[in-house]
Amino acid sequence: MSYAPPAPPDRPTLRLLPGQVFCEREPHLISTILGSCVAVCLWDRRLRFGGMNHFLLPIRPSTEAPSVRFGDVAIPALVESMVSLGSQIEDLQAKVFGGASVLVAEAGGVSIGRRNLRLAVRELRRQRIPIVAGRLAGDQGIVLLQCTACGDVWVRPIVSTGAAAVAVAAAAGPRRRLLRRRVSRGGASGESVGNNRSEPCPTCGTVTRNGEPS
Ligand SMILES: [Zn+2]
Repeated sequence: MSYAPPAPPDRPTLRLLPGQVFCEREPHLISTILGSCVAVCLWDRRLRFGGMNHFLLPIRPSTEAPSVRFGDVAIPALVESMVSLGSQIEDLQAKVFGGASVLVAEAGGVSIGRRNLRLAVRELRRQRIPIVAGRLAGDQGIVLLQCTACGDVWVRPIVSTGAAAVAVAAAAGPRRRLLRRRVSRGGASGESVGNNRSEPCPTCGTVTRNGEPS
Protein backbone atom coordinates (compact mmCIF):
# COMPACT_ATOMS: atom_id res chain seq x y z
CA MET A 1 0.00 0.00 0.00
CA SER A 2 1.58 3.24 -1.05
CA TYR A 3 0.18 6.68 -1.45
CA ALA A 4 0.97 10.23 -0.58
CA PRO A 5 -0.27 11.74 2.63
CA PRO A 6 -3.31 13.95 2.12
CA ALA A 7 -2.96 17.68 1.84
CA PRO A 8 -4.94 18.87 4.81
CA PRO A 9 -6.87 22.11 4.53
CA ASP A 10 -5.50 25.04 6.51
CA ARG A 11 -3.54 22.87 8.86
CA PRO A 12 0.07 23.88 9.39
CA THR A 13 2.58 21.13 9.95
CA LEU A 14 4.65 21.38 13.06
CA ARG A 15 8.30 20.45 12.52
CA LEU A 16 9.67 18.49 15.46
CA LEU A 17 13.44 18.87 15.76
CA PRO A 18 15.89 16.39 17.30
CA GLY A 19 15.73 16.63 21.07
CA GLN A 20 12.16 17.88 21.22
CA VAL A 21 8.91 16.55 22.67
CA PHE A 22 5.48 17.81 21.67
CA CYS A 23 1.93 17.04 22.66
CA GLU A 24 -1.22 19.09 22.96
CA ARG A 25 -4.92 18.30 23.15
CA GLU A 26 -5.55 20.35 20.00
CA PRO A 27 -5.11 18.43 16.73
CA HIS A 28 -1.80 18.81 14.93
CA LEU A 29 0.15 17.40 12.06
CA ILE A 30 3.69 16.80 13.26
CA SER A 31 6.58 15.99 10.96
CA THR A 32 10.14 15.02 11.72
CA ILE A 33 13.17 13.64 9.89
CA LEU A 34 14.88 10.60 11.34
CA GLY A 35 18.20 8.89 10.75
CA SER A 36 19.67 7.01 13.67
CA CYS A 37 17.32 8.96 15.92
CA VAL A 38 14.05 7.41 17.06
CA ALA A 39 10.62 8.99 17.31
CA VAL A 40 7.88 7.57 19.49
CA CYS A 41 4.36 8.60 18.44
CA LEU A 42 1.83 8.21 21.23
CA TRP A 43 -1.90 8.34 20.70
CA ASP A 44 -4.77 8.27 23.19
CA ARG A 45 -7.59 6.10 21.81
CA ARG A 46 -10.15 7.49 24.24
CA LEU A 47 -9.38 11.21 24.14
CA ARG A 48 -8.12 11.11 20.54
CA PHE A 49 -5.03 13.21 20.79
CA GLY A 50 -1.36 12.44 20.59
CA GLY A 51 2.21 13.54 20.68
CA MET A 52 5.69 12.72 19.49
CA ASN A 53 9.25 12.80 20.71
CA HIS A 54 12.50 12.65 18.77
CA PHE A 55 15.56 11.48 20.66
CA LEU A 56 19.17 11.12 19.54
CA LEU A 57 20.75 8.76 22.04
CA PRO A 58 19.35 5.95 24.19
CA ILE A 59 20.62 6.50 27.70
CA ARG A 60 21.50 9.68 29.53
CA PRO A 61 25.04 9.45 30.96
CA SER A 62 25.17 10.18 34.68
CA THR A 63 27.37 13.20 33.93
CA GLU A 64 24.70 14.84 31.77
CA ALA A 65 21.76 16.89 32.97
CA PRO A 66 18.35 15.38 32.17
CA SER A 67 17.53 16.16 28.56
CA VAL A 68 14.96 14.89 26.11
CA ARG A 69 17.81 14.28 23.69
CA PHE A 70 18.02 10.92 25.50
CA GLY A 71 15.41 8.21 25.08
CA ASP A 72 15.31 7.25 28.74
CA VAL A 73 14.25 10.84 29.45
CA ALA A 74 12.25 11.60 26.29
CA ILE A 75 9.85 8.65 26.51
CA PRO A 76 8.83 9.21 30.16
CA ALA A 77 8.57 12.94 29.38
CA LEU A 78 6.13 12.30 26.54
CA VAL A 79 4.09 9.87 28.63
CA GLU A 80 3.97 12.31 31.53
CA SER A 81 2.87 15.11 29.19
CA MET A 82 0.02 12.97 27.90
CA VAL A 83 -1.01 12.02 31.43
CA SER A 84 -0.91 15.66 32.54
CA LEU A 85 -3.33 16.41 29.69
CA GLY A 86 -5.77 13.76 30.91
CA SER A 87 -4.58 10.48 29.41
CA GLN A 88 -4.67 7.21 31.23
CA ILE A 89 -1.82 4.83 30.46
CA GLU A 90 -4.19 2.02 29.40
CA ASP A 91 -5.62 4.24 26.63
CA LEU A 92 -2.22 4.94 25.08
CA GLN A 93 -0.70 3.19 22.09
CA ALA A 94 2.70 3.73 20.52
CA LYS A 95 4.19 3.68 17.05
CA VAL A 96 7.97 3.63 16.86
CA PHE A 97 10.07 4.83 13.94
CA GLY A 98 13.68 5.43 12.98
CA GLY A 99 16.80 3.85 14.36
CA ALA A 100 18.55 3.60 11.01
CA SER A 101 22.16 2.52 10.91
CA VAL A 102 23.17 5.61 9.00
CA LEU A 103 26.30 5.95 11.05
CA VAL A 104 28.79 3.15 10.66
CA ALA A 105 28.50 0.97 13.70
CA GLU A 106 31.32 1.22 16.15
CA ALA A 107 33.84 -1.55 15.61
CA GLY A 108 32.16 -4.73 16.68
CA GLY A 109 29.42 -2.78 18.36
CA VAL A 110 25.76 -2.11 17.87
CA SER A 111 24.75 1.01 15.95
CA ILE A 112 23.32 4.00 17.75
CA GLY A 113 20.11 3.55 15.79
CA ARG A 114 19.73 -0.01 16.97
CA ARG A 115 20.41 0.96 20.56
CA ASN A 116 17.85 3.76 20.32
CA LEU A 117 15.24 1.27 19.13
CA ARG A 118 16.03 -1.22 21.85
CA LEU A 119 15.66 1.48 24.44
CA ALA A 120 12.29 2.53 23.00
CA VAL A 121 10.93 -1.02 23.05
CA ARG A 122 12.21 -1.61 26.57
CA GLU A 123 10.93 1.68 27.96
CA LEU A 124 7.47 1.33 26.38
CA ARG A 125 7.23 -2.19 27.74
CA ARG A 126 8.15 -0.89 31.18
CA GLN A 127 5.42 1.74 30.87
CA ARG A 128 2.98 -0.97 29.68
CA ILE A 129 2.19 0.90 26.47
CA PRO A 130 1.65 -1.41 23.47
CA ILE A 131 3.61 -0.79 20.29
CA VAL A 132 0.96 -1.20 17.59
CA ALA A 133 3.12 -0.39 14.60
CA GLY A 134 6.45 0.90 13.51
CA ARG A 135 8.85 1.16 10.68
CA LEU A 136 12.54 0.68 11.14
CA ALA A 137 14.57 2.48 8.59
CA GLY A 138 17.37 0.04 7.82
CA ASP A 139 20.17 2.25 6.59
CA GLN A 140 17.96 5.08 5.37
CA GLY A 141 16.71 8.29 6.83
CA ILE A 142 12.95 8.73 6.80
CA VAL A 143 10.41 11.52 6.91
CA LEU A 144 7.58 10.98 9.34
CA LEU A 145 4.19 12.68 9.51
CA GLN A 146 1.77 12.07 12.38
CA CYS A 147 -1.81 13.25 12.62
CA THR A 148 -2.46 13.60 16.33
CA ALA A 149 -6.24 13.72 15.83
CA CYS A 150 -6.59 10.19 14.44
CA GLY A 151 -3.19 8.67 15.22
CA ASP A 152 -2.28 7.94 11.59
CA VAL A 153 1.40 8.08 10.69
CA TRP A 154 2.94 8.32 7.22
CA VAL A 155 6.49 7.33 6.46
CA ARG A 156 8.67 7.80 3.43
CA PRO A 157 12.39 7.36 2.93
CA ILE A 158 14.53 10.41 2.36
CA VAL A 159 16.48 8.56 -0.33
CA SER A 160 14.73 5.91 -2.38
CA THR A 161 17.26 3.15 -2.73
CA GLY A 162 14.55 0.57 -3.08
CA ALA A 163 14.96 -2.63 -1.19
CA ALA A 164 17.42 -1.13 1.27
CA ALA A 165 14.52 -0.06 3.44
CA VAL A 166 13.61 -2.71 5.92
CA ALA A 167 10.25 -2.32 7.55
CA VAL A 168 9.21 -4.16 10.63
CA ALA A 169 5.93 -3.92 12.38
CA ALA A 170 6.29 -4.32 16.07
CA ALA A 171 2.70 -5.46 16.16
CA ALA A 172 1.32 -8.91 16.74
CA GLY A 173 -0.86 -11.29 14.74
CA PRO A 174 -2.78 -10.17 11.67
CA ARG A 175 -1.63 -6.57 12.04
CA ARG A 176 1.97 -7.64 11.73
CA ARG A 177 1.28 -9.75 8.65
CA LEU A 178 -0.61 -6.87 7.06
CA LEU A 179 2.26 -4.48 7.59
CA ARG A 180 4.78 -6.99 6.29
CA ARG A 181 2.71 -7.39 3.13
CA ARG A 182 2.55 -3.66 2.68
CA VAL A 183 6.27 -3.38 3.01
CA SER A 184 6.99 -6.08 0.47
CA ARG A 185 4.53 -4.46 -1.93
CA GLY A 186 5.19 -0.83 -1.21
CA GLY A 187 8.98 -0.89 -1.15
CA ALA A 188 10.31 2.56 -0.54
CA SER A 189 7.04 4.40 -1.08
CA GLY A 190 5.04 6.27 1.46
CA GLU A 191 3.11 4.15 3.86
CA SER A 192 0.34 4.73 6.31
CA VAL A 193 -0.77 2.84 9.33
CA GLY A 194 -4.41 3.64 9.75
CA ASN A 195 -6.95 3.28 12.47
CA ASN A 196 -10.47 2.11 11.69
CA ARG A 197 -12.56 5.12 10.81
CA SER A 198 -15.38 5.60 8.32
CA GLU A 199 -15.58 9.39 8.55
CA PRO A 200 -12.76 11.56 7.18
CA CYS A 201 -10.42 12.76 9.89
CA PRO A 202 -11.03 16.51 10.22
CA THR A 203 -7.32 17.13 10.59
CA CYS A 204 -5.71 14.97 7.90
CA GLY A 205 -8.76 14.11 5.82
CA THR A 206 -8.12 10.38 5.51
CA VAL A 207 -10.64 7.60 5.83
CA THR A 208 -9.50 4.14 6.84
CA ARG A 209 -11.36 0.86 7.09
CA ASN A 210 -9.87 -2.24 8.65
CA GLY A 211 -6.55 -0.49 8.81
CA GLU A 212 -6.41 0.16 5.05
CA PRO A 213 -6.72 3.69 3.71
CA SER A 214 -9.55 4.01 1.22
ZN1 LIG B 1 -6.02 12.38 10.97
